[in-house]
Amino acid sequence: MTAELSPEKNNLTIGKVVCVGRNYAAHARELGNDVPKSPLLFMKPASCVTYLNQKEVGSIDLPNADKFGDTHYEAELCIQLMRDLKNASYDDAKSAIGAVTLGLDLTLRELQSALKAKGQPWERAKCFDGACVLGDWVDSAEFGDFKNVNYQLMINDETVQDGDSSLMLFPVIELISQISQAFSLQAGDVIMTGTPSGVGKLTVNDKLILKLGNHRWQAQVQSA
Ligand code: ZN
Repeated sequence: MTAELSPEKNNLTIGKVVCVGRNYAAHARELGNDVPKSPLLFMKPASCVTYLNQKEVGSIDLPNADKFGDTHYEAELCIQLMRDLKNASYDDAKSAIGAVTLGLDLTLRELQSALKAKGQPWERAKCFDGACVLGDWVDSAEFGDFKNVNYQLMINDETVQDGDSSLMLFPVIELISQISQAFSLQAGDVIMTGTPSGVGKLTVNDKLILKLGNHRWQAQVQSA
């Protein structure tokens, strides 16, 4: 069903990246936030997307900390849609899933906290160039209904985030259905499904490994 979306052949253009805040209770708590009753949604523009490739060690550009404050990593299971969705049922949402990868929702955390305190939008903290790091796309067939997907982020050989989709407050397919009730999703759009606990700051020269099943991506952090 999804063979046409293997990493080599997937040429869908990303229109928007829809991100979900606080989809894991433990992460909501670690930042001092309440657990939401409906998905907390925000977006990243396609202009901030960069890719990692399983075949080589990639690089991640870190914004200047003196100017922008700390940048945090958030490892997230990411879905690309291969079909448009509007007011989608569970089955519609499921059949629209085209490909899967692991990504990093990079966040200028100090700036985000300052913006939140003032009641302002988060774009300055979430949409800078390079703020959405995506692995190359993997066929969705190996993940079934996405209820038991495990993934990890390791930094300098230490596991800092250990994701388990069974702990999501809004599971992947229900989540996509719910997003499509709020606004239209289009083929090529990416959903970042939220980060588990363990977020923290990146430092120049950090070596990252993102693991999803048998897939792994490596990257080194460098100054932007
Ligand atoms: Zn996130």
